[in-house]
Amino acid sequence: MSPRTTHHGCPQPRPDWVPDDAGPEFATWLLQGARPSASPRKSAGHRRRTLSVEEYTRGILNRDPMALGRAITLIESSAPAHQELAQHLLEQLLPHSGASRRIGITGIPGVGKSTFIETLGCHIVNAGHRVAVLAVDPTSSISGGSILADKIRMEKLSRLDDAYIRPSPSGGSLGGVTRKTREAIVICEAAGFDVVIVETVGVGQNEITVRSMTDFFLVLMIAGAGDEIQGIKKGVIELADALVINKADGDNRARSSATQAEMQQVLRYLQRPTEGWETPALLASALSGAGVAEVWSATEAFFKSTRASGVLDARRRTQAVEWTHALVAESLRNRFFTSPKVRERLPAIELAVASGKLPAMAAALELLALA
Ligand code: GDP
Repeated sequence: MSPRTTHHGCPQPRPDWVPDDAGPEFATWLLQGARPSASPRKSAGHRRRTLSVEEYTRGILNRDPMALGRAITLIESSAPAHQELAQHLLEQLLPHSGASRRIGITGIPGVGKSTFIETLGCHIVNAGHRVAVLAVDPTSSISGGSILADKIRMEKLSRLDDAYIRPSPSGGSLGGVTRKTREAIVICEAAGFDVVIVETVGVGQNEITVRSMTDFFLVLMIAGAGDEIQGIKKGVIELADALVINKADGDNRARSSATQAEMQQVLRYLQRPTEGWETPALLASALSGAGVAEVWSATEAFFKSTRASGVLDARRRTQAVEWTHALVAESLRNRFFTSPKVRERLPAIELAVASGKLPAMAAALELLALA
């Protein structure tokens, strides 16, 4: 660090890495922890013009990263005006969506998800694809700190022109995060991404949610973490179209092979989630890259076979119908609980039920009649 002279003529310590022509926005970028994009805003106070649905649509179909990023921010917004615009936009984009391979990836914290997705993502981009990575992580909004968003993640991948990485939408329940992620998939597909990876931390309900919005579901594991800790109870393995034992390198290689053999045994007794597809247990090292090409080959084989058999199409259709039902249920629920009459009577009725004066069914019927 060498002292430099400012325009006031006072010597000021100025770090070497600050460009000479840096304006006040330079500090702003640093404070926000954001990386300057190719076209940074002119000044911190400069307000961006609202885009019309047509402008968003054109920008996204032309693969403009700025339009893509802003459209996802739009669908994440809970402001009613934004939501209305977002729904119009999604209607425009829907006919241009659906052509990607939707891949869900889960695993406990520390299993190597970021590292694996970065290595796999780079491999896929090198193979000529365009990859978007989205995250589902409702725990981040509950705990305040995000497991997924706060780390500097997937730096190599994020530098590639054919890759796009979007951390988990902030705020909201699993239901809210789910809706935003589903809609982000549509936007990414319309923007020409032919592989969409949805990442989630393997804690509880998240896996089922991500399974319900993806075609191919990959569970990352490590040797010797114990079935319990890994959440690899029967339930999670049964969702998997591939199990990948990561960190199969160095001293860990032999233990990983043993885990692979164990998992192959377990898989023989389980019902597979995808008709006509045998879930493989594979070894990989996200760090060295070993085995990652084989994981991608297995993924491609899955898509080839399920496309030919019609299983993929059937899965997408079922998912769309289930999603519609889920949206209807959510919306009915919201309407019910925000109804003024329900809100007025609810506390008294809850009290009556809790004290055993009113049966739950009678209480429910009374409330439903009010809505
Ligand atoms: P995440 O929490 O599941 O996203 O895990 P990370 O990708 O952040 O990885 C957790 C730690 O495991 C990091 O220190 C990584 O460098 C390390 N790691 C990830 N993949 C491998 C691997 O294949 N081999 C080894 N030896 N370490 C790995």
